[in-house]
Amino acid sequence: MILQSLLSLYLYHMRLSDDVLLDVMARFQAEMVKGLGRDTNSTATVKMLPTFVRSLPDGSEKGDFLAVDLGGSQFRALEVKVFNDGKQSSQLESKFYPTPKEVIQGSGTELFNYVADCLLDFMESKNLQHKKLPLGFTFSFPCKQTKLEEGALLAWTKHFKVRGVQGTDVVSSLRKALQKHKDIDVDVLAMVNDTVGTMMTCGYDDPHCEVGLIIGTGTNACYMEEMRHIDLVEGDEGRMCINTEWGAFGDDGALDDLRTEFDRELDLGSLNPGKQLFEKMISSLYLGELVRLILLKMTKEGLLFNGKVSTALLTKDKIEMKHVCAMEKYKEGLSNTKEILTELNLFPSEEDCIAVQHVCTIVSFRSANLCAAALAAILTRLRENKKVLRLRTTVGIDGGLYKTHPQYPKRLHKVVRRLVPNCDVRFLLSQSGSAKGAAMVTAVAYRLAAQRKQIDAVLAPFLLSLDTLREVKNKMRAELEYGLKRETQASATVKMLPTYVCGTPDGTESGKFLALDLGGTNFRVLLVKIRSGRRRSVQMYNKIFAIPLEIMQGTGEELFDHIVQCIADFLEYMGIKGARLPLGFTFSFPCRQASIDKGTLVGWTKGFKATDCEGEDVVDMLREAIRRRNEFDLDIVAVVNDTVGTMMTCGYEDPNCEIGLIAGTGSNVCYMEDMKNIEIVEGNEGKMCINTEWGGFGDNGCIDNIRTKYDIQVDEGSLNAGKQRYEKMTSGMYLGEIVRQILIDLTKQGLLFRGQISESLRKRGIFETKFLSQIESDRLALLQVRRILQQLGLDSTCEDSIIVKEVCGAVSRRAAQLCGAGLAAIVEKKRENRGVEHLQITVGVDGTLYKLHPHFSRVLQETVRELAPQCDVTFMLSEDGSGKGAALITAVAKRLHNIGRK
Ligand code: ADP
Ligand code: MG
Repeated sequence: MILQSLLSLYLYHMRLSDDVLLDVMARFQAEMVKGLGRDTNSTATVKMLPTFVRSLPDGSEKGDFLAVDLGGSQFRALEVKVFNDGKQSSQLESKFYPTPKEVIQGSGTELFNYVADCLLDFMESKNLQHKKLPLGFTFSFPCKQTKLEEGALLAWTKHFKVRGVQGTDVVSSLRKALQKHKDIDVDVLAMVNDTVGTMMTCGYDDPHCEVGLIIGTGTNACYMEEMRHIDLVEGDEGRMCINTEWGAFGDDGALDDLRTEFDRELDLGSLNPGKQLFEKMISSLYLGELVRLILLKMTKEGLLFNGKVSTALLTKDKIEMKHVCAMEKYKEGLSNTKEILTELNLFPSEEDCIAVQHVCTIVSFRSANLCAAALAAILTRLRENKKVLRLRTTVGIDGGLYKTHPQYPKRLHKVVRRLVPNCDVRFLLSQSGSAKGAAMVTAVAYRLAAQRKQIDAVLAPFLLSLDTLREVKNKMRAELEYGLKRETQASATVKMLPTYVCGTPDGTESGKFLALDLGGTNFRVLLVKIRSGRRRSVQMYNKIFAIPLEIMQGTGEELFDHIVQCIADFLEYMGIKGARLPLGFTFSFPCRQASIDKGTLVGWTKGFKATDCEGEDVVDMLREAIRRRNEFDLDIVAVVNDTVGTMMTCGYEDPNCEIGLIAGTGSNVCYMEDMKNIEIVEGNEGKMCINTEWGGFGDNGCIDNIRTKYDIQVDEGSLNAGKQRYEKMTSGMYLGEIVRQILIDLTKQGLLFRGQISESLRKRGIFETKFLSQIESDRLALLQVRRILQQLGLDSTCEDSIIVKEVCGAVSRRAAQLCGAGLAAIVEKKRENRGVEHLQITVGVDGTLYKLHPHFSRVLQETVRELAPQCDVTFMLSEDGSGKGAALITAVAKRLHNIGRK
């Protein structure tokens, strides 16, 4: 048909190919990035306004909520009842109110008084005036929000023009107006935009809904953005809904190549020329007018209606959206079109009708195309944020054009699916989205506030004040003294065991040594070569051996036979079976020593529980096992605690190192004490290293005031209930387990994992301390936290993973602070021993918790600095303290022994 091809030529510019749409999509993506950036936001046309809506409904919302909906096509007050019945049901009652011209073009006070009056009327009509109800405020104008319940109006749009409101917080204005009515008690909890309302309403029915879209009088979209991409709001955790205000896309000329002469003409004739250019190509307010301008020009050029222009065709806004919709009802043929054109006094021929129908289609199709391109950009962003290859999501939609136009939804869906083939999108029509949405936002805010209170209550006992930490330091200090005093040491919980290590290395040590390391995660045998003088160095060879659980918890004889078996393997492996080397035995359990090569096990800790060992000399047990085997002989020179080994290793580099700290599977400290203070060892000259065994701190109940029910649960589930209470709050073996207990409790309270305690969460030990490190890492996005939890069999939502991270943080922080408080007591004691105003000292540290946890070491150091301000403490990481240290101690002991002999 000639006319059709002519038309196609004429409206060529309005038909957008997929290539052009992909280009629009890319431009919109770039504009979103601009809107989110701190430095680029001010010049961005798409404002990307943070809404402070951080969570979607999870179905557990319940209660009775009020809402006021201002700025949509009609003003109304609502009551929304939300039931937590597993069926996502809700009940809505509302009443419409007029918006008289004197109100929407008067003063701000008048407007908000009017809104309050209408609400009061509504409450009275529903007999609600005596209830205290939370209220959500749908306010569909661009606002710069600073909180969920605080936002300043940027500019009035639509037909509103109220004085003295722009730039002021609309929520507080509404509150003020409500307060004038003394008899009602309404709490404004949230303000939302209609797009957000739509998303939230649909989100209540479909948990995948994370985009809200309006295609009506105006057009706009919102979606859930990652907090770390939102520069304008503090914090990196979780997500927040962004109101794109996409109607202004193109206001900087970005779409000028796509705009036609009709678009320019329409814009010039509008109330806000140059503004909302994208909206003017899409929304229902302008579609009819675009059609009218096209028809007018075509008629003037003689292409339609025999060139006869009617007065109606010259009248602005004479063709409306409803006309376009009616004319595009292809199923009804041309009758609608004919009727409408006739009403405009245009006497159309059949050809005219076909052409006009075609124009309508081109205009409305372009609208759907452009909308699809921008939506495709949002969907792509969501997919990239989630780092998935395929995105499954739901878009909640509201708006008259989408709802009434016969072809619009189908076209929009089809184009979106073509532009983003890797997104499975469900389009969900919202039922009274903008109005009900405010109530949903309020319901979610209400739920979150209640949950927040419960979570805070659970974690509150883990927050230790500075005063409490000071008290812990003082108690530790007192316990250190009890352990050193003859009369009290027998009953002391901090045992303060003398180690008979009296000197630190002086660099003259040399030789080959064997070392054993028992009591950590691994059992190891080492060969250590120490050189002195100018070629001073330490060389180590080691082999790790497993200790099966049945041996760890079997008989003592079995344990030591196994150890000797491992030594034999090692000697064979190194080819040194015949050499009778001096051996240092790192045995990281509390031992009461009578000399450097005698150590009576006081009691097993950590995971060990072999029988017939407690009260026995471990060196004797080792010697006997060697004798039983009768294959080789060894010169056992020293039994060494791992803390001491750590101190010695660092002391080899830094002579000021007089403290050794372990924060690994267990927690313990040793330090050089003046002999005169050690009452149970003869002699007053010089110093001796004391293995504090501070893990037992609190076993007399002295820190029960800070132990939580979770600590008690962990203790009761351990091998040594009632013992090592401080260690159980501070060391790697237990932190994960504390976290697991808290997670179980939170789940029981319905605050996590949808209230479902999974099989895996029930398993003791499933939550290892290394997971705390991973989860708390600052570099880790929430998504990765979810992945970790998934690996643990914990199916978490985004909110769940925020809470889990918070729990981990509370537990590890308390551990570091308690450890710091203990260490502050030690350095303070050292300072007093030396009688100095200011102490400079080095602490040698070992342990995976200290080394690998992202915050533990920093918090520990901060606490020490805070609680012991007169001490300048340097922390030095030890490299393999238990291996190298044992060899060094053996070497020193040998050296001293040889001097003694001479
Ligand atoms: P040990 O104290 O047993 O001699 P480590 O110092 O290596 O040995 O500590 C091991 C303990 O450290 C483990 O039992 C575990 O509790 C904890 N741990 C392991 N990996 C990590 C990690 N990535 N972050 C924090 N703690 C960890
Ligand atoms: Mg160790």
